[in-house]
Amino acid sequence: DPVALTDPHSAGDAELAFEGALRPKTLDEFVGQRRVRGQLQLLLRAAELQDRTPDHILLAGPPGLGKTTLAMIVAYEGGRPLRMSSGPAIQHAGDLAAILSSLVSGEVLFIDEIHRMARSAEEMLYLAMEDFRIDIMVGKGAGATSVPLELAPFTLVGATTRAGLLPNPLRDRFGFTAHLEFYDEAELELVLARAARLLGLDIDGEAVAEIAGRCRGTPRIANRLLRRVRDYALVHGARPDVTSVKAALELYDVDPLGLDRLDRAVMTTMLERFGGGPVGLSTLAVSVGEEAETIEAVVEPFLVRIGLITRTPRGRVATPAAWRHFGLAGPGAEPS
Ligand code: ADP
Repeated sequence: DPVALTDPHSAGDAELAFEGALRPKTLDEFVGQRRVRGQLQLLLRAAELQDRTPDHILLAGPPGLGKTTLAMIVAYEGGRPLRMSSGPAIQHAGDLAAILSSLVSGEVLFIDEIHRMARSAEEMLYLAMEDFRIDIMVGKGAGATSVPLELAPFTLVGATTRAGLLPNPLRDRFGFTAHLEFYDEAELELVLARAARLLGLDIDGEAVAEIAGRCRGTPRIANRLLRRVRDYALVHGARPDVTSVKAALELYDVDPLGLDRLDRAVMTTMLERFGGGPVGLSTLAVSVGEEAETIEAVVEPFLVRIGLITRTPRGRVATPAAWRHFGLAGPGAEPS
């Protein structure tokens, strides 16, 4: 299993099949995100009453929080076909034209990582979203002409880890933007209990709570840890109780707060090399050898959420809780 356990970005084939099996199919099965669920419900119902395709939807938030799942639900609940693509797969306007021109009426088009789409495709998308029409360039040079092409009405569901990276004209064309938040432990316990039921795994509440506290507020990671716990119990002929949960998570190097390797690298760099900060995001990114975008979209939101770092105008600063968690003496601490 080549997948890093807590990296919400990576997924091997087995992991994808596993995720597919656990994906909620309806809004009712979708745990948490109450606000977003209510908003989506209204949007879908209004479209249904008016017998039209739902407005375009932008889903923003860190990986693993349910953006793909919600796109599938939008299609499933409306009984609509779903086409899936992603920003990195759309490198030319032609790639997008090929997708758009083959959509059937009412189809849901999901574009993951939409902020990575080519500029030229972005511009084509504006017109497509607004008027269900694109202009196709025919011929080259002075003889080139643009031919308008009518599209079937569709609903675009875009997903991004960074809504701020989308150009305004694109952002403005979505009828609704949902910001997904990290899940609290009670919600994660529901995600885990549901997954355990689907997997036929007999796991008690205390063990579930232990996993819920260590999964970075992320359902994808919760399900992944559950699977490792199942493996552990199977191999050791043990019950998946809190003892085997702790042993399994320790084996996979998941720390008590659920921090993964990159989270820990960022924190220890801040604490040990920069004396706790303030340190700029790009400096941090270079120091840990990661893209600034990943630090900002994936690592930082969680570290802020659990109170290990704060953002200040001068940069990121480690909190006293961070020094404690890593067993280090902070600035101004009594020398021991
Ligand atoms: P994203 O597209 O935001 O990276 P996904 O939609 O692929 O995240 O979610 C990853 C996995 O987490 C899904 O396969 C699903 O099993 C689980 N999941 C996500 N959100 C929920 C939720 N609200 N309730 C139950 N399971 C969820």
